[in-house]
Amino acid sequence: MRPEVLFPLFAPVTSLAGVGARIAKAIDKAAGSRLVDLYWHLPTGIIDRRYAPTVAEARPGIVATMTVTVDEHKKPAVPRLPYKVYCSDDTGTLALVFFHAHADYLRRTLPEGETRVVSGKVETFGRELQITHPDHIGTMEELERMQAVEPVYGLTAGLSLRVLGKAMREALEQVPDLDEWIDPAYLGKQGWQPWKAALLEAHAPAELDALEPLAPVRARLAYDEMLANQLALALVRLNMRRTKGRAITGDGRLRQTVTGALPFSLTGSQETALGEIAADMATDTRMLRLLQGDVGSGKTVVALLSMLNAVEAGMQAVLMAPTDILARQHLATIEPLAETAGIKVALLTGREKGRARQAVLDGLASGEVSVAVGTHALFQDDVAFHDLGLAVIDEQHRFGVHQRLTLAAKGRAVDVLVMTATPIPRTLMLTAYGDMDVSRLLEKPAGRPPVDTRVMPLERLDEVTKGVGRSLQGGAKIYWVCPLVEESEALDVAAAEERFDHLKAVYGDRVGLVHGRMKGKEKDSVMEAFAEGAVDLLVATTVIEVGVDVAAATVMVIEHAERFGLAQLHQLRGRIGRGSDKSTCLLLYAPPLTETARARLGVLRETDDGFRIAEEDLRLRGAGELLGTRQSGLPEFRLADLAVHADLLAAARDDAQLILSRDPELKSERGQALRVLLYLFERDAAVKYLRSG
Ligand code: ADP
Ligand code: MG
Repeated sequence: MRPEVLFPLFAPVTSLAGVGARIAKAIDKAAGSRLVDLYWHLPTGIIDRRYAPTVAEARPGIVATMTVTVDEHKKPAVPRLPYKVYCSDDTGTLALVFFHAHADYLRRTLPEGETRVVSGKVETFGRELQITHPDHIGTMEELERMQAVEPVYGLTAGLSLRVLGKAMREALEQVPDLDEWIDPAYLGKQGWQPWKAALLEAHAPAELDALEPLAPVRARLAYDEMLANQLALALVRLNMRRTKGRAITGDGRLRQTVTGALPFSLTGSQETALGEIAADMATDTRMLRLLQGDVGSGKTVVALLSMLNAVEAGMQAVLMAPTDILARQHLATIEPLAETAGIKVALLTGREKGRARQAVLDGLASGEVSVAVGTHALFQDDVAFHDLGLAVIDEQHRFGVHQRLTLAAKGRAVDVLVMTATPIPRTLMLTAYGDMDVSRLLEKPAGRPPVDTRVMPLERLDEVTKGVGRSLQGGAKIYWVCPLVEESEALDVAAAEERFDHLKAVYGDRVGLVHGRMKGKEKDSVMEAFAEGAVDLLVATTVIEVGVDVAAATVMVIEHAERFGLAQLHQLRGRIGRGSDKSTCLLLYAPPLTETARARLGVLRETDDGFRIAEEDLRLRGAGELLGTRQSGLPEFRLADLAVHADLLAAARDDAQLILSRDPELKSERGQALRVLLYLFERDAAVKYLRSG
């Protein structure tokens, strides 16, 4: 339960005076719907009103604040012309210009003969010096209340700075004092202020420097956010550790049989990873290990052999994939191998229904099924296991902290192995996984020549289509990936369909189409046709990005490659070059390329080292945009910027560990403050792990 002291922060912005439904909607778009969202909506610039010249001194193009006498109102002759109010001081004349003016209002605020302070951007119009729609008009006394330096905020259509600024000022009046959660020594060393002071100052920048992410007040707020993130992860982990696991040690019999049946020998990386996993499983603490390996590095075999370790010990194991297609593909790989060892594998996704589903459920409950492959359907409420020992979660490049939490709740003492195909930079690893144990598959299976990657303009599409024709004649299997259109699946599909029609007109029935709007069965049958022969040219949207495995595919064309992220292109390209044949990837772009897009495509041409690509991606795009952002499930930071605050993140991690080693229940005075911090950053779920939460 959220502590009372935070209640005001989570009140809706409509609780602010002057904020009705319409303005709230606009504020929601720009910042969010609650006061705390306004707090995290830090200024992006400043308007400096300290420049107070005489009229003669005023420089055009700059915001100036001037004290003038109102001389004369001039109504326009025709309504589309502006209303003008002429003012002056001893040095010259200034015109205030208003379009669509309300004459009454202007006569009231600018009475002729009176002195007024006006502030706004000065411009010249012909020989006149003027301010169009001044930001401020007031009496001398009112000037006192005007902010000399005004923060500028990110806005949306229908939301003016004036309106947002007013809401913000009011919201900031309600910031509570919170007890300090940062270690006083560290706070002192960094020269940081208490939270409230830092927040208020962050919203009152006096100079441009104050907007820098490393400015002390901003650094402090970023640290708070990262500390909440790291503390939450550390709590989850501590909790996993606390529930005793079971020592799982197989006798190696099944693993030997399957290893013997493999048409290849394991790479050194695979052997090492298997050793680390077996060692974790053998202890009676719960395993929580991440298996990180680029596309095609051979994670599936590692998963299978680890599952067999559990089966040898008389337990069950599951492999959970993020999509139906992937689950089926894992099944296709795993089933024949498991069968050589006499092990029955079952499939459970959202598509298994009725009797088929019931049969699987029965098998899992009785223990007859020892290995199950599926999607999150594996963890629905009515699924009961006889004795689940190991869960492998294939996240590909999504991050399912949630799934891991559900799972932790489900199997009491289940060991967990998470697999990811995204080579995540170290900084991001920390935010998504905390200090999870990691095994990395750095070595690629032998005998895979690198993919020949070429970058060319879309104008050469005809040439490319002809080249594709030649490859088809030579017996190649080809992916043709269609572009992302403005994040709209419907438009993606339309583009893919158009390309499909066009290629089908040239190459006939050997062309297939697969996209995200197709039904599961349809998708499967197209993928099968591509894997097994009838279809040789597969037009696709990014649905193929996630783990689809057709080893014979050697050519990939990507249209509008400039619209994809670096990591995504790398994932896509990983669909080819999986066999020993030479592969080619054509990245087609629409000129002119932005500098970043050019750099991105250049990186791909140069390397297929996923870790290097991930680091470059982070550098080129900033963490927020990495990995397709939202859907990735990667925690989104509002105050921290991992590209700049990486050092602080490491400090937050160390801090989180130290805190929990001293005060695992967060009971001390600082512990209580830290609980508030967790709620402040909405890590409520983590607080549940505290016994006295
Ligand atoms: P990932 O899931 O890491 O992308 P997979 O497990 O799908 O990779 O493996 C990709 C391909 O490499 C599969 O066809 C698999 O059979 C093969 N493979 C796995 N390990 C090896 C190895 N040690 N030597 C040769 N081929 C391997
Ligand atoms: Mg795989």
